[in-house]
Amino acid sequence: MSIFEDNNRRLADIRELEGISEAEMSVLDNPVQTKYAELEVNGRKYPAWRIVYNRALGPGKGGIRFHPDVSEDEVKSLSFWMALKNSLADIPYGGAKGGVKFNPKDSNQEELEAISRAYIRAFHEYLGENKDVPAPDVYTNAQIMAWMLDEFEKINGRHEPGMITGKPLEIGGLALRGDATARGGYLIIKEMAAEFLRGRRNKKIKIAIQGFGNAGLFMTEKLFNDGYKIIAVSDSQGAVYNEDGLNIPEIIKLKNSGQSVGVYSGGRKISNAELLELPVDILVLAALENQIIKENAPRVRADYLVELANGPISYEADLILEKNKKIIVPDILANSGGVIVSYFEWAQNKTGQILDEEYLRGLLGKKMKLNWRRVYEKYSEKNGAITLRQAAYILAIRKILTAEKWRG
Ligand code: GLU
Repeated sequence: MSIFEDNNRRLADIRELEGISEAEMSVLDNPVQTKYAELEVNGRKYPAWRIVYNRALGPGKGGIRFHPDVSEDEVKSLSFWMALKNSLADIPYGGAKGGVKFNPKDSNQEELEAISRAYIRAFHEYLGENKDVPAPDVYTNAQIMAWMLDEFEKINGRHEPGMITGKPLEIGGLALRGDATARGGYLIIKEMAAEFLRGRRNKKIKIAIQGFGNAGLFMTEKLFNDGYKIIAVSDSQGAVYNEDGLNIPEIIKLKNSGQSVGVYSGGRKISNAELLELPVDILVLAALENQIIKENAPRVRADYLVELANGPISYEADLILEKNKKIIVPDILANSGGVIVSYFEWAQNKTGQILDEEYLRGLLGKKMKLNWRRVYEKYSEKNGAITLRQAAYILAIRKILTAEKWRG
């Protein structure tokens, strides 16, 4: 199934809802730039992409993913979502994404470094602080950003830390970036709960979390510390469930020692598929795309679904969930904390100014709250005729189209 076709269907719905002409919307039909290369490392070939979806609001911005399922269709969709996410978050970026198709879990550090550097050698002329600015995504991290920055600076013979974000502290990164996606999503859940679950005590709110990577792990920790009842978590190897609530610090310890959350003994082993269908209040989707599709959507029992990953719910699943009165907090709102902090990092790198982390943490909080408000107001304005996703899409798309108009 093509993920990008789903986006086209979502765009067509927005066009109809908002009465936008086909000609005006056509700037969003396809990416403005698609680059493909085959990286050659130690005699092996790795398909790699960097795609810029739109540049009306600023340079390309979005992560680089290392994953065996990476494809052009996927990178294109991810770059489209970045364009909308950046627009909705009010940060001066277009949207972009990159990826390399391979399983980094099968590679040692030397290979990872060689692949990271080869990626930059393939795409360096299209990257730069005012052209297109990568960051971490699934299975990439600060070390990979450091190798990429180093390769870029070696090729260009000058420093340019703002060409990539999510870097280690010592070379221009921000401590706040590490858990920023989770922090942003957590703040959105608080806003959502204040609106939809008013009066319910945290310990009475049951949550299941799919995915225990950077986003899912920190999200689970924050929700647990706030007293929410986390009854199930999963990673790519397994899932664990306990109706009375899981001991999250113990599970994090296990995970940090390199084991799967599925081996945790304080709960019952379940499958990933079962986790998605548990009777919880909130289901946080923090893994990959297309987790809720038309086949399992009718069986989803959570009342609220929060997309901490990009694109975890398909278009057809959206329609089924909507019919079943489920509320979905869309990815472009829920997971925008990462790229918002990337923006702080980039701005600091460009100006050379050093900003206080506490101040930036406050700014992230303000921005997340404001973004939630704007989406929620748009949604309420239409009296239930549109979803939160459609409200977010309308705001994001309107801004890109207006910027395109100004540019002529
Ligand atoms: N990969 C993250 C995302 O999907 C962050 C992108 C960035 O910081 O540029 O939003």
